[in-house]
Amino acid sequence: MAAKGVQSLDLNSPKIDAHAHVGFFGSWCGVAVTAQEMVEQMDFYGLQKAIISYPDNEVTLAAQKEFPDRLKALAWLNPNDGPKALLEFERLSELKLIHGLKLHPLFNAYVADDEVVYPLMELAIEKDLPVFIHSGHPPFSLPWSVGSLAEKFPRARVVMVHMGHGHGVYIQSALETAKKRDNIWLENSGMPMHTKIQEAYQTVGAERIFWGSDHPFHHYAVEILRTQVCGLNPRQLADVFHDNIQKFMGWR
Ligand SMILES: [Zn+2]
Repeated sequence: MAAKGVQSLDLNSPKIDAHAHVGFFGSWCGVAVTAQEMVEQMDFYGLQKAIISYPDNEVTLAAQKEFPDRLKALAWLNPNDGPKALLEFERLSELKLIHGLKLHPLFNAYVADDEVVYPLMELAIEKDLPVFIHSGHPPFSLPWSVGSLAEKFPRARVVMVHMGHGHGVYIQSALETAKKRDNIWLENSGMPMHTKIQEAYQTVGAERIFWGSDHPFHHYAVEILRTQVCGLNPRQLADVFHDNIQKFMGWR
């Protein structure tokens, strides 16, 4: 008899990683991966592409240059940098080097819906680029703050990275917030409750949840397995692992 939820285990089904990082993260993190190492792991686990970011955009762009078909760069910008961040966003988008904006309110110390973020949001709308924003940690990156930001900018396409992350209350808030705002999509890396992936698919929307790994912070095998046992059928899992983010990013 098959164990509940593990009837369709297939670590190599086609995938696109909606959230990963290249480079070295020191301090408490102590994780690192090169572009070459990442692509080797992606090959092993059936990942066609990965959306990557790093606090130093030159690291991300170098990785994308090495593997342009596989690694897709976001511009990680700090709204606290003011005009400097705007100029950098403008420059990278004009050069068509980036596929979206990455905001990390926790890492860069600002509240997700603070006024300081507005100019970057306006530019993201103008450039028609999605905004990937970290969620799940007080006081800066809570789901309701991300929701408030999305509400202020209804034309922005906001991806709530980690969909609340490790805390049940935040995870539930991520779902409830996304239900209220149709310009929010959820990304599920590092979010421990497999049941909430199925719930998001069914109650937020079949097109509005993406699989991500947060590699190298998390192992591909662990992140893949959690989604695979979430209760969705293989056709639905293909949406979460691949089709939804492909469509969202406008990739063929
Ligand atoms: Zn991350």
